[in-house]
Amino acid sequence: MKLDKFEKYDLTFSGPTPIQHLKRLSKELGDKVQIYAKREDCNSGLAFGGNKTRKLEYIVPDAIAGGYDTLVSIGGIQSNQTRQVAAVAAHLGMKCVLVQENWVNYSDAVYDRVGNIELSRILGADVRLDAAGFDIGIRPSWEAAMEEVKSKGGKPFPVPAGCSEHPKGGLGFVGFAEEVRKQEAELGFKFDYIVVCAVTGSTQAGMVVGFAADGRADKVIGIDASAKPEQTKAQVLRIAKNTADLVELGREITEEDVVLDTRFGGPEYGLPNEGTMEAIRLCARTEGMLTDPVYEGKSMDGMISMIKNGEFPEGSRVLYAHLGGAPALNAYSFLFRNG
Ligand code: PLP
Repeated sequence: MKLDKFEKYDLTFSGPTPIQHLKRLSKELGDKVQIYAKREDCNSGLAFGGNKTRKLEYIVPDAIAGGYDTLVSIGGIQSNQTRQVAAVAAHLGMKCVLVQENWVNYSDAVYDRVGNIELSRILGADVRLDAAGFDIGIRPSWEAAMEEVKSKGGKPFPVPAGCSEHPKGGLGFVGFAEEVRKQEAELGFKFDYIVVCAVTGSTQAGMVVGFAADGRADKVIGIDASAKPEQTKAQVLRIAKNTADLVELGREITEEDVVLDTRFGGPEYGLPNEGTMEAIRLCARTEGMLTDPVYEGKSMDGMISMIKNGEFPEGSRVLYAHLGGAPALNAYSFLFRNG
């Protein structure tokens, strides 16, 4: 596998992201499975970082080399992606235009003012609210924003939703797998499963390719948080195939390599279910680790439920990839008004 042939621009802290043993959560769930977390949620000093910051390390070299002056991206109103793009643009001395669509069926007096969107505004991005609903594909509003930057003499660099439609969007999480392998050598054991939240797909896709290199592609358990799992699964598979070609994996990625659990994403994208809320509280109260109602609360619920159901063999070591997202918690304060 040849990840090193791609240029990488450092946006995360140097060295691997920490892997922490979640001893109290493991104990709470009966100690039959040991849970570890790899902390992508605190991988950078750029506005709290997260999974997109790792992906952007392989995307921004083209923006810099091409002399682009404006990063243009898209997401929901509380998108973590757009906040991370805003921070990276500020860090690189570029401008930033963000299209924030109405992806989530949730209304709250402060939803479009606090959390991620507040941070993007502080970071200097030109934030545009758009009424369009949830879709992880390429959007007309985003294309219009690109055209507008051009018409004003700027050079816009497109960063698609979740970095996922970008041809190099999967590379960052191939790197994650390489990093885990080195950490496993130091720890003296290998993880049996890796649990990861999936929506736009390139995080899981990168991991599938990265872990395919040592025969563990199907040990990456994607937990769907899009509540449109057919679309997410197709996107993970497509990006994984493309990423495998790019890094010269040496074998094709097939449907069997992509495991996406569809049980925990409801009721819809951006809205938690009871299990999500319980998982957020349990993880916070046993480990002091924050997860959010849109993404990581759902993957945390998936992992906890699978452990409770005995779906992982006894003695398994499970690595939870914590991809970030806690900055959105403020926008959901109403849900936590009673603790
Ligand atoms: N977790 C968090 C915190 C995210 O911001 C995202 C972004 O969509 C995801 C998980 C899902 O990652 P992906 O879109 O690469 O599937």
